[in-house]
Amino acid sequence: MAIREILTVPDPRLKEVSKPVEGGVTDEIRALMDDMLETMYDAPGIGLAAIQIGVPLRVIVMDLAKEGEEPQPRYFVNPEIVETVEETQPYEEGCLSVPDIFDEVERPSKCLIRYLDYDGFKIEEWAEDLYAVCIQHEMDHLEGTLFIDYLSRLKRQRAIDKVKKATKRKIREDAA
Ligand code: ZN
Repeated sequence: MAIREILTVPDPRLKEVSKPVEGGVTDEIRALMDDMLETMYDAPGIGLAAIQIGVPLRVIVMDLAKEGEEPQPRYFVNPEIVETVEETQPYEEGCLSVPDIFDEVERPSKCLIRYLDYDGFKIEEWAEDLYAVCIQHEMDHLEGTLFIDYLSRLKRQRAIDKVKKATKRKIREDAA
């Protein structure tokens, strides 16, 4: 396992549409998911899509365990949203690719999802609460959409400028 670099805005790769994994969940895909989970825990974050480490495949990892709870890693290969309810809920979202920016996004409160798990089994289940928020946020990454794309143009630009500045500062510090 290895910690990979997380891409941040405005990296154009974050706008790419990810491709489906062909040929099922192989050891290679599992190795990718292991790296993604380690990278996510290190950040730390609760969800990560493969494109966030520069791999344009439809793969997501997640862990929604609260502090002090046992880790509950979840793995999603080729996830699909089958159905959503009409009811929406606002949630203050953040993203490892848009560090230190948080804002409210409104999404369907429940969704029925279908995916392959770590062992390649096909799972279909309803996601609700934080799980529903997180899977919709991560699945947006597979389409090249970020949560800041739901904000006003001004707020989005401000967020990108802030991340750019912070990234430059970090590069300078690392070089010093
Ligand atoms: Zn994100």
